[in-house]
Amino acid sequence: MRSENCDVVIVGGGPAGCAAACVLAEQGHRVVVLEREKFPRYHVGESMIPFTYPPLERIGFIHRLKESAFVKKFSVQFVAPSGRASQPFYFFDRYDRETVAQSWQVLRSEFDQMLMEHTRAKGAEVREQHEVVEFLRDGETYVGVQARTATGELVEIRAPITIDASGRDALAATRSAWRRGDPKLNKVAVWTYFEGSKRDSGIDEGQTTVAFLPNKGWFWHIPQHGDRVSVGVVADGKYLARDGFKDPQAIFEREVPENRWIAERLATGRGTGEYWLTAEYTFRSEYSAADGLVLVGDAYGFLDPVFSSGLMLALKSGVAAADAAHEALAAGDFQAARFTAYSEMMREGIENMRKLVYAFYDPKVSFKTVTENSPELAGDLTDCLSGDVNKDFTRLFKAFAEVTEMPEPLPYGVPKATPQRPLVAT
Ligand SMILES: Cc1cc2nc3c(=O)[nH]c(=O)nc-3n(C[C@H](O)[C@H](O)[C@H](O)COP(=O)(O)OP(=O)(O)OC[C@H]3O[C@@H](n4cnc5c(N)ncnc54)[C@H](O)[C@@H]3O)c2cc1C
Repeated sequence: MRSENCDVVIVGGGPAGCAAACVLAEQGHRVVVLEREKFPRYHVGESMIPFTYPPLERIGFIHRLKESAFVKKFSVQFVAPSGRASQPFYFFDRYDRETVAQSWQVLRSEFDQMLMEHTRAKGAEVREQHEVVEFLRDGETYVGVQARTATGELVEIRAPITIDASGRDALAATRSAWRRGDPKLNKVAVWTYFEGSKRDSGIDEGQTTVAFLPNKGWFWHIPQHGDRVSVGVVADGKYLARDGFKDPQAIFEREVPENRWIAERLATGRGTGEYWLTAEYTFRSEYSAADGLVLVGDAYGFLDPVFSSGLMLALKSGVAAADAAHEALAAGDFQAARFTAYSEMMREGIENMRKLVYAFYDPKVSFKTVTENSPELAGDLTDCLSGDVNKDFTRLFKAFAEVTEMPEPLPYGVPKATPQRPLVAT
């Protein structure tokens, strides 16, 4: 078998893998990214939140977005089942209009391909149609991967650091049985695309709408360029599949009349055909890192997408893990403990967002009531929803705890200690 060496090998060329590769290649490291698919490929996850901006800026990608056809997103609104819409929340009412307050609704096939090209331009070697089939190990230490090429050839890429950015496949967590679910966030999503449906114009053209079902389920409505809109419904599986419904299109079509705003918007459009379904998607890896290995993006963990936190977390984690990997390479020390601060940052951010997600699905909590009773909490709520998640939200969560039970943090997403190497702070 052909064997090669590099400084860092990355599994997956999605946003998390590319962000990590950009940072490391910029530092002069030899980086090889192995991506199973040939891009462009379809992917869900199209709406950015404001704090996706800092990692995109860090990897020098903002100008590409500004030049792109992607629809600019300035706001989000919430719509009751009756069709009554809240006042839009405009990000520039709180954040700088020229930076963080700008985000985009992207078509992931195009966005991910642009990011991959950008990563190549930064100096990383990105190989498509290379499926990683095994991690290579020397005892407990990860020392690279084995991949299968499009022609079926097996190659070994050896590196002192392997970054798992394989998305919800979560290659390392799945192979090592580190995958842990979050039973209360056990939702099902069904989605499709419409063309020619009713859209807003001007500053509201790219507005994300979260439209409620009567039973704490919800629709997303994400306007995209090319007169397309991404529309999905998310709720408990039992509710969506009631009366034996299994076909995604039938499930989707039954829910549309449950929200008048959604029904009116879609009435004038035509579906583009394909319907997608995914279930039980919230999980976290028990371990964030092992000796020679670190997990980023969805491969580290995935949280219910109600607040569109996925891209922000994927890009932010890619950048932060790459910074820690750069330090590890400089020190010649590849122990899991090198990723302690990275893991703490990820856990804090995800736990804060997770509390909001729990509150969103809890009939006892109303964000509106909380902020009406305590207007000083409105800024905290906005920051967390916008993705500024590594902050102290004690006051806000105390207010939720007055009306409901808040979830305990999950003990997962930490570096793996081995008997030979207990974790020590670095
Ligand atoms: C229903 C739903 C709605 C969502 N909506 C939003 C939203 O509105 N906004 C938002 O920000 N996020 C959203 N997300 C989340 C978002 O899709 C993800 O968080 C984001 O794509 C994570 O990026 P990533 O780079 O970690 O993984 P991915 O984007 O999944 O990239 C992983 C890459 O790894 C490759 N790969 C996998 N296995 C291998 C292997 N063995 N070898 C080589 N390559 C491999 C895959 O082909 C893929 O290209 C949503 C998710 C779901 C399920």
